[in-house]
Amino acid sequence: MNTPTKFEFQPLPYAYDALEPFIDKLTLEIHYGKHHKAYYNNFLIAIKGTGMESMTIREIFRNISKEPMAVRNNSGGYYNHTFYWEGMKASGSGMPTGKLSEAIGKAFTSIEEFKKQFSEAGKNRFGSGWAWLCLDDKGALFICSTPNQDNPLMDIAEKKGIPLLTMDVWEHAYYLKYQNKRPDYIEAFWNVVNWEEVAGRYETALPSLRKK
Ligand code: MN
Repeated sequence: MNTPTKFEFQPLPYAYDALEPFIDKLTLEIHYGKHHKAYYNNFLIAIKGTGMESMTIREIFRNISKEPMAVRNNSGGYYNHTFYWEGMKASGSGMPTGKLSEAIGKAFTSIEEFKKQFSEAGKNRFGSGWAWLCLDDKGALFICSTPNQDNPLMDIAEKKGIPLLTMDVWEHAYYLKYQNKRPDYIEAFWNVVNWEEVAGRYETALPSLRKK
């Protein structure tokens, strides 16, 4: 794209092979370099010459029901993938800590139970979509799943919230390594969750709720 834009295509925060063996290098190369890049390019095309060029991505999501499907699909595809990449890292710690750990325990009874419910949300998403851990406007954690490239920040979401963690369950996220075995990819995902990042998102989101 030659047009200057404030919407950046952020670099992948680690090497393509960093999440091996859980997420393989080829999948990451294609997923980031082809799929994510295409959503980004098409997002810029979809908002070109509109007021959305000067909005934040969250402002766009707040009124997404009024926009064409090309904006909805590509803005979501652009944002959701960046959020997904940043929520993973090589040798994820495996367990949340601190305030987030306490909040998850309170909302879901235990970390194990949370992982089970989040995994189910991903397994049960029919077709393509995402599983999410979110914070609602009362400060409570909840799990949900969205179809296609929708997300919980969009006004069309069944339940709106601030995303803290996401997992891509489109076939392109796992098919090269896991083929039809989505549950195996979901199990592997827990090995690369960047819990420090998720905890940071939680602690950033809490005060923004209090200001409302
Ligand atoms: Mn994807």
